[in-house]
Amino acid sequence: MKIITQPDEIQSWTMQRRCAGERLALVPTMGFFHEGHLALMRWAREHADALLVSLFVNPTQFGPREDLKLYPRDPERDARLAEETGVDVLFMPEAEAMFPEGYATWVEAPSLCRGLCAVQRPTHFRGVATVVAKLFVLTNPALAVFGEKDWQQLAVIRRITRDLHLPVEIHGRPTVRESDGLAMSSRNVNLGPEERAQAPAIHRGLLYVARLVGEGEADATLLLAALGEIYAREIPLGHVEYMAVVDPDQLYPVEEVTGPVLVAVAVRFANARLIDNILISRK
Ligand code: AMP
Repeated sequence: MKIITQPDEIQSWTMQRRCAGERLALVPTMGFFHEGHLALMRWAREHADALLVSLFVNPTQFGPREDLKLYPRDPERDARLAEETGVDVLFMPEAEAMFPEGYATWVEAPSLCRGLCAVQRPTHFRGVATVVAKLFVLTNPALAVFGEKDWQQLAVIRRITRDLHLPVEIHGRPTVRESDGLAMSSRNVNLGPEERAQAPAIHRGLLYVARLVGEGEADATLLLAALGEIYAREIPLGHVEYMAVVDPDQLYPVEEVTGPVLVAVAVRFANARLIDNILISRK
């Protein structure tokens, strides 16, 4: 596996591979790999000739009071896991190489960034969309793979890819979970033991809402009230930042479940903010 840190070097490497007729897959990450990341890489490996993974803790997607410094890092372990997973190139740029002094260009999709995570993190998706667009330009992939755990991020990336005619297929992959249902996240290591014990209730609550919908409940207000009760009872150490029933593509709030909906939540613990969601199709 090759490790590249310079943007111009990754650009010429990918250009050569593309000219040789290869289909490249890109998996953008912020590192501290877990099974969720590795599942995306394995899937990408099977669908392309060469696999490129970027590892970049993108400062522009963190707000001024967010956990950039707390974000867990272990680049040596990541490089080992990437190599074992069949990654051809690990792109690990420095922040200054991606966003040098005087950097001034942004990519945004504001209509998808009015609710959910964007309320507490108003500049987050601008940072994500911009870095992903830059990675697409630098690596020219035929396909790029993202996790459905970060559903709003995936929606924004699909939108900018379509709107800017970026010639990249976008693939969303299911959330990989711990055996107790907690969605895998690099941030889970920042949970204290009691918080970790309560956190699986995030997913249990979402499954309960899906069951209520399956039994015929369609009123989003009632569904969210039931979810709020579960969280108040089972996650006393977590502060529920939002719970929402939204259209899965446009992300606007839905009052009555008449078709597929996404139920999305964010729960803040002392040192980790966790998100999760479930896609529910009305039977
Ligand atoms: P991150 O390093 O957290 O920015 O995540 C990199 C990619 O992995 C993103 O596309 C995430 O959506 C995806 N991802 C993170 N956690 C999971 C998970 N538990 N299951 C599947 N994909 C995930």
